[in-house]
This record gives sequence, C-alpha cells and structure tokens, in this order.
Amino acid sequence: MDVLVTGAAGYVGSVVSEQLLAGGHRVIALDNLGQGHRAALGPEVDFIQVDLCDAPRLDDIFSGRNIDAVMHLAALSIVPHSVSNPEEYFQTNVIGGLNLLNSMLKNNVTRLVFSSSASVYGIPESIPVTEDSPQIPIHPYGECKVMFERILKWYGEAYGLNSISLRYFNAAGATSLHGEHHQPETHLIPNVLKVPLGKVDHVTIFANDYETEDGTCVRDYVHVIDIADAHLKALNAIAGAGTKAYNLGSGTGYSNLQVVRMVEQVSGVSVPVVFESRRAGDPPVLVASSDLAGKELGWVPQYGLEEIVQSAWQWQSKFLDGYSD
Ligand code: UDP
Repeated sequence: MDVLVTGAAGYVGSVVSEQLLAGGHRVIALDNLGQGHRAALGPEVDFIQVDLCDAPRLDDIFSGRNIDAVMHLAALSIVPHSVSNPEEYFQTNVIGGLNLLNSMLKNNVTRLVFSSSASVYGIPESIPVTEDSPQIPIHPYGECKVMFERILKWYGEAYGLNSISLRYFNAAGATSLHGEHHQPETHLIPNVLKVPLGKVDHVTIFANDYETEDGTCVRDYVHVIDIADAHLKALNAIAGAGTKAYNLGSGTGYSNLQVVRMVEQVSGVSVPVVFESRRAGDPPVLVASSDLAGKELGWVPQYGLEEIVQSAWQWQSKFLDGYSD
C-alpha cells in the first residue's frame, strides 16, 4: 500500500516507516523536523518537510498523490511543556490533526491509524487498564489525545472515516538503525543509559514516596518494534474498521528502580540514583491490558524489558550523539 506517515522522522515514526518499507509498502514521510531528524529516514524515502498547521500545503500533498492510508504520529509530546504551553499543544496536536483529516477526506482517503497514548486515562482507577476505563486526562497532552480520538469517532459516523487508535504505554528500545533521540530527553530509559555511556554521573528519579513496592512509579514498557508491528496489523485491519482503539502494553509493570537495575545488568555499570520530588502529571502505576489488541488485531508483544534495554543500550552506544541532523 501507499502509506502517508506523519511524524515519520520521530522516534516511533522512524521505526514504523522502517517496518512499512520492509513489508513492501511505499512510505510518504511527512515531518516538520521540529523534534524529528532527517537522518532517521533513509535517502530513499519520499520525504516532505511540512507542518500540519499548513492546511493548504497538506491539501496539495494529498491531491497530487495516491494514498491508501495514513498513519498519524506527528505530535508535540513533552508533558510538562503541554502544561505550561497548552496553546501550542492544542494547535499542533488537535488543529494540525484536523487539517490532516480534512485533507484526507477531501481526497477520499478514509483509513487512519492514530498514535494515541495511555495518558488518555489520567490516573487509572484500576490496574491493568482496559480500553473502557474512564478517560480523565491530567494534562493538556493527554487531553489532546482524548479530543482527537473523539473527533475520529464523530468523523467516522458522519464521513465514513475508518480509524484505529493505538494507545501506547511506555514505548522504548530501538532497532539496529533507529532509536530514541529527543531534545530534551525526558524518558527514563535513555536518561538512565546516560550513566553507563559516561555522559552523566547519576540518574535523577522523581520521588520514592509513591504507594508502590519500592516507592517509585511503575510503568509498562513496550518495545518500539512491537509498537510498529501493531501499526502494520492495524493497517491490515483498517478497511471497514469503523472507530477502534487498542491499548499497546506488555501487561507487566516495572518500577523506576527496577529499570535502573536492568540497565546496570545489561551494561555492567553501576548507576547511582538521586531522588528528587515528584514530577507533575506522573500517575503512580500504569500497566495495560492489551487483550483486545491480541484478540482483534492478533497483536502479542514479543519483547520484554531486558530486550528493550539491551536494544536501547546498543543503539545509544553506537550513535553516542544520536542522529547527525
Ligand atoms: N523518570 C525519572 N527520571 C527521568 C525520567 C523519567 O524518574 O529522568 C520517571 C518518571 O517520573 C516516571 C517514569 O520514569 O515515573 C517514566 O517516565 P517517562 O518520561 O519515561 O514516561 P511516561 O510514563 O511519563 O510517559
């Protein structure tokens, strides 16, 4: 299929593009390069630098091409920034997304796989989190994901849009080619890896006074390869899907300290920890039930935390400064 991928030069987008190409699909890669890296896409990829807020340009892109389906991953994604600057987040993540939908529909493209997030659930009432759990986001980033999923539902009913939203839990890990390079880096695994890489002398952990076994937050890490695989499975299921949403997690939670221990085990280097106060917007525990994705998409994650950390360690060691551009 000819698949247009937004946010293709970002962390998950680059791995999704890699797998689409490996699966024999053609990729039309869109990115504004605000967070993404041109070097995360091979020179052979049909790359267009565009911002989703530029609606006329999007229309041009769609009207000049055959596009069978869209995978929409482009978004601003730094939670604390979304709290201090909601305007920018609603503009990019909601209005930009609407521009995309409108260009799609004007050009009879009615298949969309959307990169959603566990943050739609806010602080879940019960664990593991199922798709019908209440959606009460606790920051503008999560609110944008909820709003966009609701838009997808109404567009489905009114305009026949078929959409599958994939609610990622904690995406992590790397392929041999593509990994995580954020500026600033806010995610736990790449930040812990900075110690064995010799970039910092300790990792900061945001609090150990949560009501969890060791007092640190618990998260459900899912390999970026498994996440990309879910996108391909969603693509296969998208025709006539209506409006669907699936959690993508492993079903196993690891505390922040357990992640630190895993990095020590994989790298062979001990990692000093400094505790700081809680980070705003951090739910204590987030663990997914992904049974629905298993049942309806045939998606079962293949990799556990050790393989995730191993792959991230290999990528970060190989590309010490991340992507070149
Ligand atoms: N975290 C931390 N130090 C860091 C980065 C993250 O203690 O340098 C914690 C964060 O507070 C949360 C967990 O690690 O409890 C996972 O955070 P991350 O940003 O990786 O993902 P999130 O769950 O926020 O999407």
